[in-house]
Formats: sequence, C-alpha cells, structure tokens
Amino acid sequence: MKEDVVYLDSAATSRPYEDVLSAYLEVASRHYGNSSSLHLLGYDAARLLREAREKILSSLGVAKTHEAVFTSGATESNNLFLFSIARRYRNRGKKLITSRGEHPSVLNVFKALEKEGFEVVYLPLTEKGSADLGALRAAMDRDVILVSLMGVNNETGAITDLREVSSIVKAYPKCFFHSDLTQAVGKIDVPYPLVDAFSFSGHKIGALKGSGALVYRKNIAFPSLEEGGEQEGGHRPGTVDVAGDYALSLALQRSIREGKENVQKVALLREKALSYLQRRSDEFAINSPLDGSPYLLSFSLLRKKAAVYVEGLSEEGIAVSSVSACSSKRENVSYVIEAMGLGKERAAHSVRLAFSPFNTEKDIDRFIAVSDELLGRLVNQR
Ligand code: PMP
Repeated sequence: MKEDVVYLDSAATSRPYEDVLSAYLEVASRHYGNSSSLHLLGYDAARLLREAREKILSSLGVAKTHEAVFTSGATESNNLFLFSIARRYRNRGKKLITSRGEHPSVLNVFKALEKEGFEVVYLPLTEKGSADLGALRAAMDRDVILVSLMGVNNETGAITDLREVSSIVKAYPKCFFHSDLTQAVGKIDVPYPLVDAFSFSGHKIGALKGSGALVYRKNIAFPSLEEGGEQEGGHRPGTVDVAGDYALSLALQRSIREGKENVQKVALLREKALSYLQRRSDEFAINSPLDGSPYLLSFSLLRKKAAVYVEGLSEEGIAVSSVSACSSKRENVSYVIEAMGLGKERAAHSVRLAFSPFNTEKDIDRFIAVSDELLGRLVNQR
C-alpha cells in the first residue's frame, strides 16, 4: 500500500491505533486462554474480558444501568437485538418503527420481520436527513414494541435527536428504544443512558475488524439467536475473542477521552472541504446538513459521473467513497439521498468524505487540487 494515500473513507473503516494493535497482540499471544475455562489461563482471560466490559460501560457512562454483549460488530448487534426483541415480545404488540435512512443491517432485519407478520412503519427523512420525529410521534401507539433510529447517518452525518426520541418513546413503557450508534460512538455526544439498547463496531473507532458490542439496559431479557454455549450471559454463544474485545475497550476509551480534541480537528477539515465544494457550485451540490456530524460530508456531482470521479481520485492516491461501502457492489443509487427528497440524479452521483483525526489539512489541500484537476479533465457526462 502506498504510504502517502489520503484516506478520506474512515466511516467505512478506520485505521487502527498503534497502541490498540500492540495491546491486541499482547493479549492474543500471552493471555490466550479460553475465558470459560476453569484453570489459571481461563481465569486470566476472564479477568481481561471483565476489565474490557467494565471499561466499555464506564467510558460510555452507563456502568450502573446497562450491560454489554461482545459481538463481531454492529451488523451482528443490530440483528441480535432487533430480531430477538421483536420475536420475544410479539405478544405485547405487532408494530415496529424505524426510518428510511437506516443502515442495511437494520433495514433488512425489519424487512424480514415484516415477512414474519409484523407491521413496520418506515419513518420518512426530513430534508436534513434524519428521521422525521413528528411522524414518529404520530405513529406511536400501544401496539408499538420497538423503535430503532440511528444516531448518525453513515452517508450524510445527519444527527438524530435521541433525547427527543427517548422522550417520545418513554410515554410507552412497553416499547424498547434501540439505536444504531456505529457512526456516533466516540465521535459525537450521545445521551447513552437514555437509550435502551445500542450497537457499535470496533473498526470504526480504531480497533479491529470483527469486534463490536451490543449495550442494553440491565433488566431487558432477550434470547440468543443461535444455539451453543452460555457465553456472554447466554446472549451470544461461542468462544469469546478476548484480545479483540480488549482492544475494542481501549479504542473506545481513547476515542471518548480524545473526543473533543478530535471533533475540533475534523471540523476544521470538513469546513475546508465544504468551502471548496461550495465555491465549485457549478459542479457540486451539498447533501449533508451543515449541523451534521463533523466526521462526514456528502455531496453530489452535478455534471460528472460519481463513479468516474471516485476512480479518478483513487488513481491519484485519494480514497473516498461513492455510496456506503456495504452497498457499493450492488446498486449505485443512495436510498438515503433519495429519501431526503434530493432526487434520483443526486442519489446516483453522491460522494462521501469521511474524516478522521489522522487526517491533516494537507490531505484536504491535496483532495482539492486533484479534484480541480480531475474536473478540468473529465468531460461532462450527464
Ligand atoms: N451501521 C452503520 C451506521 C454503519 O455505518 C455500519 C458500517 N458501515 C454498520 C452498521 C455495520 O457495521 P459492521 O459492518 O462493522 O458490522
């Protein structure tokens, strides 16, 4: 891999922190016992796992109220909670609520639950890209058992007002409030204690791929989706990846500790990229709300093809994403941009810049220079 790559795709996955990688190696090589084993190596691994869980809960400020299940990432956490809760509590009600802007690991679970007989309300997005909470208020009734709304949209950075969601859902004590916080954890302020359950992934915050967690309020009972052992409080059978989970706890602790500093850093970078895109309003239209997450900036090309533009940037060592990495192989139209009412053309030619604390102003200067050069070279194709 070229050393001087400008990586502006940190929402797809982040560069791991060196100290987190070293800790991973140390635990994987020296503390390799099975955390369920009843001997000294097992106890040693179980202690590290306990430490990791405590670090996670206390970093998030929910040590007294919530528990954590380690998973392979947000996809698994979302599947586990949503399927398990809907099926277990179906005798309480058949109605579920989510939004049109959710990640496929939430949206597709709800589509599957519809086939199981649930009624699902897909809230529209506002023009700013977050779920319409007026529509949420209108859709709530005693038949609703589950509401799942993401904290930060992974394409646009649109932020959902989770305090408001919590206050709406709280009026219905039998309804659970879940949030996919994959792009929010360690990045923006979140009222964690108000959320009944939330999901996140390690590899978005400087830990390793294949690690993540589902954090849930202590008294919520939900069965595992798989048969197997009693690991992770019976919620997730299988031998636990102690080293990966330990690394996750360190990366989370660090992201939260350095959160404010990082936000200032990335906000400056985003501002610089934004002014450039606004200057070139002949070529670009901004999709992200200006008050969205400072880590993300989505825009659409007005006259060129996004795929050709992204490929051109890549050839010059700049990595950005045209639609979210999870769906880029299937269809090149962003359902999120479409749901914001920005039209099919803008949805088909959107580009996402995702910043990280590793980025510098020089990275943005280089992006701007290469982008200008490309725009001059590419013929108008649309
Ligand atoms: N939710 C959101 C908002 C995401 O951005 C992602 C990753 N693109 C996921 C869920 C899924 O995460 P993972 O692939 O790590 O399971």
